[in-house]
Amino acid sequence: MFDSLSDKLERAFKVLKGQGQVTEINIAETVKEIRRALLDADVSYKVAKQFTDTVKEKALGQNVINAVSPNQLMVKITHDELAKLMGGGMADINISGNPAVILISGLQGSGKTTFSGKLANYLKTKKGKSPLLVAGDVYRPAAIDQLHVLGEQVGVEVWSDKENKNPVDIAKQAVIHAKSKGHNVVIIDTAGRLAIDEQMMNEIEQVKKAVNPQETLFVVDSMTGQDAVNTAKAFNDKLDFDGVVLTKLDGDTRGGAALSIRTVVDKPIKFVGTGEKMEALDIFYPERMADRILG
Ligand code: GDP
Repeated sequence: MFDSLSDKLERAFKVLKGQGQVTEINIAETVKEIRRALLDADVSYKVAKQFTDTVKEKALGQNVINAVSPNQLMVKITHDELAKLMGGGMADINISGNPAVILISGLQGSGKTTFSGKLANYLKTKKGKSPLLVAGDVYRPAAIDQLHVLGEQVGVEVWSDKENKNPVDIAKQAVIHAKSKGHNVVIIDTAGRLAIDEQMMNEIEQVKKAVNPQETLFVVDSMTGQDAVNTAKAFNDKLDFDGVVLTKLDGDTRGGAALSIRTVVDKPIKFVGTGEKMEALDIFYPERMADRILG
């Protein structure tokens, strides 16, 4: 995860290490290398520039030039700014309400259904909740079957109705069912398309209005680079979601989405997917992610 970014940042800091004397010029050089590393990781130019301007300002303000260990101070400044860029503190999900309704949005293939299963598993095993999973994809019967398989794996009931082609109706019926069966969380997996289209957006907006979820989460494949950020923006404009789930962080992702999303949509990353298994879900801690990036 983020291997290339980590390597390039490490190289950037070597600029300072290799110099007999630290000057404003070699700080500028380091900062330029940091910017290049971010751009290579698919961070947008605007975000990368803002970031490196801040790092440079802090480096000069904290007098890296005269520091005993200029290299370490520079790493620390970059670390703190990376954590800030990714949102600072950890952002929890809201599961108050009985039942708490969580709506899962995103493009097809982003990992929505897998995440729905993982979230149900997490809430059941770690939070002592009794979730109901809801198959809201009325276009792909295979997606409904997939959710049933996952539900069975994690021992969570799945609500579906293959005859019903109205996702708003399915969601409402599911909430009624959850209440009658004592489920205190309802996780609604929704249909996704390969690209954003108006019908899909209107449909999920209608579902949101009908069930008034405590949490609307946007799931995005971290491997899709700057597209991930553009998709996030389109979904946020329509849905005003509460948080982001970054999937496939176990793959060879360059990291741009993790670093840019907060700045672009001003919504926190709440979870990351780190594999196909139901246990491969982590809560997102910006500080820990910054630790990982800087090795
Ligand atoms: P959906 O169309 O958005 O519901 O996407 P799926 O949940 O069906 O996921 C698409 C593919 O990505 C499946 O093959 C999943 O096993 C895989 N997948 C989902 N999340 C992760 C993850 O965090 N890591 C990896 N490696 N694969 C994932």
